[in-house]
Amino acid sequence: MMMWPLYNSYSQKEETKKEKPLSNLNLEPQEMQTKSCSNNYISTSLKTFPKTQDLDLQAKLPLSVTIQPFAERKKEMKNNQDIPVINYGKENFVRCECGGYLNPFVQPNFMSFHYTCPLCGTTSNFPEWWINSNSQSGYQGNNMELNKRVEFSDSVIEFQANSKYQNRQTSDPIYFFLIEISEYTINNNLVALMCKSIKKWIKSKLIDKEASNSQSIKVGIICFHSVVDAILIKKKSKRPEIITLGDLTDYFVPCPTKSCIVKIKTHYKSIYSALQLIPEIYKKKINHQPIKQSKDQQSTSESCLSFALQISFGFLNSVGGKLICLIANRPNLSKGMLRNRENQELVGSKEESTLLNPEKDSIHGQFWKQIAKKFSKYYISVSLFLFPFQYLDIATFAQLTHYTAGELFVYDNLSLQTAHKLRSFQRQLTQLLNREDCWEAIIRTRISYGFSIKQYFTDCLISNDDLLYVPNISPDYSLNIQLQIHSKEIISNYLFIQTVVV
Ligand SMILES: [Zn+2]
Repeated sequence: MMMWPLYNSYSQKEETKKEKPLSNLNLEPQEMQTKSCSNNYISTSLKTFPKTQDLDLQAKLPLSVTIQPFAERKKEMKNNQDIPVINYGKENFVRCECGGYLNPFVQPNFMSFHYTCPLCGTTSNFPEWWINSNSQSGYQGNNMELNKRVEFSDSVIEFQANSKYQNRQTSDPIYFFLIEISEYTINNNLVALMCKSIKKWIKSKLIDKEASNSQSIKVGIICFHSVVDAILIKKKSKRPEIITLGDLTDYFVPCPTKSCIVKIKTHYKSIYSALQLIPEIYKKKINHQPIKQSKDQQSTSESCLSFALQISFGFLNSVGGKLICLIANRPNLSKGMLRNRENQELVGSKEESTLLNPEKDSIHGQFWKQIAKKFSKYYISVSLFLFPFQYLDIATFAQLTHYTAGELFVYDNLSLQTAHKLRSFQRQLTQLLNREDCWEAIIRTRISYGFSIKQYFTDCLISNDDLLYVPNISPDYSLNIQLQIHSKEIISNYLFIQTVVV
């Protein structure tokens, strides 16, 4: 939760402090700072915001807010204390009718047991169970005295939600790897490097027994080229079994999927040997295949990435997960095949921007947006590691990362600074795997009365009712909101913003 003062005009900015406030709330600057959350979480384009539409039009300044929900807390701000955790037990959260949660800026009245919400100005009663609650009845806050409860003292709070707030049972974190097998990825050691990095990461996770999720992590591996191969990892098996899933017109997902997605804790030996053997097995295969030449005389391979993504969806739609893809060739098989859209004649013309936008005109182009939205709805995030050596149409399939809050890494022209780029690839892949993520999140931001959200700038799917579906939130994830004033004049002296991650 954060707040900022509003100003009436340029010249009266200093005088505003002396004026009688239009609402009951009147805070000293020091109080404003201590009650607001750190700038690490929420920062703004302006220190004070205009109070009227006219002033906003005159100022012509962007009213925007950047929110980083899992930014690390500034140690010096709160004496290095952990974020307080509250558990209301089986009870619902205490919320105003606008949906706002209790926060340090509500104006409580403990005589009549009601409070006024700073977001909408509505007065609500505290629920009886909340007033009478104590640690025995399930409430776990820092202090039982009403006026000293953490809801009123701390602007960043973790509420432990009961099962009523869960869409489905929490599943184990799943990392699903999609590896392109082609002459380029094999001969440039990209497959070997990826397997080596995964192995190293699993080793570190098994050692790190303190990390909350390290022991429950599951992994799955799929390799794709002209067809899609699932790598079956069975306990005590020294060699992975490889099965081809479908024929590009129809696919199947092995049932049960237990050998395709396995726990690292119980299957680490078999996973290690699979990761060791995958580059060798496919190197032999690739070297026996006829090579096709592209226009620029570079060797090109068949790639059914879109088909592999559909199969991955079949594996993950009931559990969600993180999909990590290694890609070098443009998808050229099955639905979603992409054409070379390079056109030198458009360079410098008005239509040049179309080359940088995703392809929308064909069914194949539309496939990428559709599947990305489908992934997001089922809490599957997609991160891409791209190694383009010819035209790849990054704009079109980057929609996968855009709608699923994934990440996009591009290492072009590998022949230059090869060692440096390969080191970057390993480092960034390891970083992505090691990060403490929040899985299956929905974000909602509420703004105080008079302001509204004009536009979001972020990577995720945004529903019509302003809910952000984020399959994975890392500490680096942020969103930017552009605000607008929709009331002629705002009654409050302050702008309040509350962001909730569920
Ligand atoms: Zn309210």
